[in-house]
Amino acid sequence: MIALGVAAHPDDLDFGASGTFAKLAKGGASCYYLICTNGCKGSDDPKMTEEKLIEIRKREQEEAGKVLGLKGIFFLNHNDTQLVADLELKKEIVRFIRKLKPDLVVTMDPTLVYSKRGFVNHTDHRAAGQATIDAVYPMARDRLTFKELEKEGLKPHKVKTLYLTNFDSHNEVVDISETMETKEKALACHKSQVSDESIEWVREMAHLVGKERGYEFAEAFVKLELK
Ligand SMILES: [Zn+2]
Repeated sequence: MIALGVAAHPDDLDFGASGTFAKLAKGGASCYYLICTNGCKGSDDPKMTEEKLIEIRKREQEEAGKVLGLKGIFFLNHNDTQLVADLELKKEIVRFIRKLKPDLVVTMDPTLVYSKRGFVNHTDHRAAGQATIDAVYPMARDRLTFKELEKEGLKPHKVKTLYLTNFDSHNEVVDISETMETKEKALACHKSQVSDESIEWVREMAHLVGKERGYEFAEAFVKLELK
């Protein structure tokens, strides 16, 4: 089993899916993250610079990856808040899908533009999700798309399952009771982004989602079994 998470910023997948990734890794799966931007805008500290923040957030994500047992983390280093779901980004993602050959791809649901719970879904989240969906189907699958990749030895690959993180909608609930603690540890690695309060909020949400199925803690996804 090979699982690949694709998201916009360092910390996105740890909020939405790290309990699931830790569980998969514990069960012997090879798990990878692909992070599309450098996260250079995520600070209110007047002394923080973009250059420093890029390094800090990369290190934080790498530390979290060790906690989760990920096999590898890759960074595309696009500028934060400027991610566009264009052909170039889709090709970059296709490259990793063809290289890693994941059975499962996890990304962010681009159909969530805003939530009536009171937030707008970040433009980078939507771009990363849209580009990843398009990369999974049809671009990674079709031999005649990006023919130059086949010449590099990157053969077409068909992803079996797609998980999308979406706060407002789901049809799949993953029991993460055994890895909730690991998820909290991974989140705590993102010191520049995550407070004790936000970890407490994640815990409460995971408990609430779990309740639906009688699990102590869970993560929820829109799940697509691709034909
Ligand atoms: Zn984000």
